[in-house]
Amino acid sequence: KHDDEEEDDGSPTKKQHGHGEKVATHYNTLQETGLAARSQSRIFYMRNFNNWLKSVLIGEILDTVRQSRRELSVLDLGCGKGGDLLKWRKGHISRLVCADIAAVSVEQCQVRYEYMRKRGHPNERIFSAEFITADCTKELLTDKLKDPKMEFDVTSCQFVYHYSFETQQQADLMLKNACERLRPGGYFIGTTPDAYELVKRVETLDSNSFGNEVFSVTFQKKGDYPLFGCQYDFNLEGVVNVPEFLVYFPLFEEMAKKYNMRLVFKKTFSQFFEEHIKNDQHKMLMQRMQGLESFPTDNKNKSSSDNLDDYDHAKEK
Ligand code: SAM
Repeated sequence: KHDDEEEDDGSPTKKQHGHGEKVATHYNTLQETGLAARSQSRIFYMRNFNNWLKSVLIGEILDTVRQSRRELSVLDLGCGKGGDLLKWRKGHISRLVCADIAAVSVEQCQVRYEYMRKRGHPNERIFSAEFITADCTKELLTDKLKDPKMEFDVTSCQFVYHYSFETQQQADLMLKNACERLRPGGYFIGTTPDAYELVKRVETLDSNSFGNEVFSVTFQKKGDYPLFGCQYDFNLEGVVNVPEFLVYFPLFEEMAKKYNMRLVFKKTFSQFFEEHIKNDQHKMLMQRMQGLESFPTDNKNKSSSDNLDDYDHAKEK
């Protein structure tokens, strides 16, 4: 984030009809599966890969901001059930605000956080946290924060931002929520589907749909890809089946300038993987998270990894 004055953009905050309700209902009714069930899933390795990528990204950004500040505050925008809570714990942040449109997910996230605090070592200083249920494409988070003047060092928006590209107003308000309370020098990090890849794949086929027995992507219309509201339905092993929208990255980059943001880096998952897997620590984390036997230290005594946390183990006992 640039060290400039912020402008008042007058973004609309009024509620509009859209797919938000569908998305919230979908995530609210998604069963929270335990570790055992997750490891049976055909997307087990992909989920672990995504988790690894988020861990490395989050770890790097926290290391970067920590060079200039000791106490770090983070906004987890679209936190879901708290899949990244352990990453924030490992990153030794001081304060976390979790926001999501799905109330049930936010509740589960809070339960998970409280469990983590309860089970933590008495000497460990686990971050304080605040939980907000809000459609972050339509409601201003500053109106809901306990301290409306609170500032963040990092906003993390993992696998969420594409839901906002339904309309320009929604994409803008989500961006405003992500950036307006960032400190100068703060970072907005995120992961989102690659619009180029999706369009390339569908355009090389006769059909408006592609995929395999595990996933499918179905565009409503081929050949016409509007900047906003370019909807496709994504189905992953029946796990996710809600409308998503293409995020045209050059437009997103332009839009972010309004909030004094400049692009630091953008990479595909495969580029990110190629670059980071060379690092021994990241490689070890990948091996541990994927449960690979070649993990070089004592696997039996491994500490909880990002998605294999104590909470899951406790639930399964
Ligand atoms: N960030 C979490 C993670 O990486 O584990 C959850 C990712 S999940 C694929 C997408 C999340 O985005 C869901 O929890 C969903 O409820 C949330 N979401 C979708 N639209 C949203 C909106 N308009 N405002 C806030 N959260 C939203």
